[in-house]
Amino acid sequence: MTTEITFSSLALAEPILRAIADAGYITPTPIQAQAIPQVLAGGDLLAAAQTGTGKTAGFTLPILHHLSTRAAQAPRPGRPRCLILVPTRELAAQVEESVKTYGKYLSLTSMVMFGGVNINPQFKALKSRVDILVATPGRLLDHMGQKTVDLSGVEILVLDEADRMLDMGFIRDIKKVLAVLPKQRQNLLFSATFSDEIRTLANGLLHNPKSIEVARRNTTVEIIEQSMYRVPQAHKRDLLAHLIRHHDWQQVLVFTRTKHGANKLAEKLNKDGITAAAIHGNKSQSARTKALASFKDGSVRVLVATDIAARGIDIDQLPQVVNFELPNVPEDYVHRIGRTGRAGTTGSALSLVDDEEISYLRDIEKLIKRSIVRVEVEGFTPPAKADLMSDERPPRPPHGRGGRGQGQNNGQRQNSGQRGPQSGNRNAPGRAAQGQAAAGAGGAKPAPPRAAQPRKPRPQAALFSAKPGSRGH
Ligand code: AMP
Repeated sequence: MTTEITFSSLALAEPILRAIADAGYITPTPIQAQAIPQVLAGGDLLAAAQTGTGKTAGFTLPILHHLSTRAAQAPRPGRPRCLILVPTRELAAQVEESVKTYGKYLSLTSMVMFGGVNINPQFKALKSRVDILVATPGRLLDHMGQKTVDLSGVEILVLDEADRMLDMGFIRDIKKVLAVLPKQRQNLLFSATFSDEIRTLANGLLHNPKSIEVARRNTTVEIIEQSMYRVPQAHKRDLLAHLIRHHDWQQVLVFTRTKHGANKLAEKLNKDGITAAAIHGNKSQSARTKALASFKDGSVRVLVATDIAARGIDIDQLPQVVNFELPNVPEDYVHRIGRTGRAGTTGSALSLVDDEEISYLRDIEKLIKRSIVRVEVEGFTPPAKADLMSDERPPRPPHGRGGRGQGQNNGQRQNSGQRGPQSGNRNAPGRAAQGQAAAGAGGAKPAPPRAAQPRKPRPQAALFSAKPGSRGH
């Protein structure tokens, strides 16, 4: 449908086309091919687009076009013409970086605004002209309260990753911001998913919006190879270190369910001689920025992240994502694996699944409408002491969306006594999948012949039958 469209056919101003060419983009992605003409036409837009689809350029390019070709009304310092609201600091920084990249041949100015950092440089920046303001809601409200920002000149409003903003409890903040914006303006709402809450927000905000959707709701990006290992929680850290060495992975993004778990895992990998950094909400902004930069430039091989911290991380062609624990909210699985295989590159996502996570796995498979391939581990023998780590099982959040905050913010341990009878044994994780392994999936190798296994395999039923209903996974 969109394959013949080129950037030059999209009627964008020449300096923008030059910046796109510099970025190395040849053709618009499907979301760009649909969103750019709609935004250029001036109406409101409701876009269902997942991360990795090129949605940022989808709204940034036409915004730059509008602002550079229309004169500002009553330009004043600290009075932006475009406001882009995003849920996280990382996403704010990345979106503003995109604004700068695509607008580098224009004389427009931009600013990023988020909390967790000193507010004074932001006060200073707001004393100059700011055409495009990229902000997280909390810090923006601070500035509104202190009257250091003037939103009366906003011509275009973008809510990016609106679903995540609602998940993070920003709805009241968003409403306070909306209340001070001029009535006449263009509104663009981007969201990966459409809950009833998002629809309510869209109904109140958008006027006769054009609706576009590039990836069907909650479908996993097709080009990502997805696979999983069945493994007791207590063996996961050793297994991950083994996999990184075995496959010689140089850049891996690993998701844990808790901040505590992220720290412990990064510590363990570093101890094993694999450079790793953790990124989560308890880290200062400068620590997060530093970790991300080290990961991007290759000086850190593994970035361990929680879901919210990872939202907005944009690393080109990230080859490997690992779910150290499955998320209890199935949509988060789609967001996580969307970190790989971005903008047309292939990627691989691997999940380490303990018995207790089987119900999460089922929910995810139901959502993505496919089963995730079980693979076997080659040459891994969990150390006998692995049992001792069984107290580090992440807290089991309540099932369903409401559990997200708890899992994210809570680093408590659970007692090993709460585990199933099989969970502390020394079974090699992959053996559970014997007979189910699929060659070529997720970069994992097919199981070697039994003789090559360091230990004698036990019968599958004895390995993972702790919970009724876990069979077949
Ligand atoms: P986003 O979904 O906005 O986070 O973008 C995902 C990635 O795709 C970013 O790294 C962009 O630099 C890249 N990208 C965006 N548009 C294009 C394009 N037309 N061609 C190639 N890469 C692109």
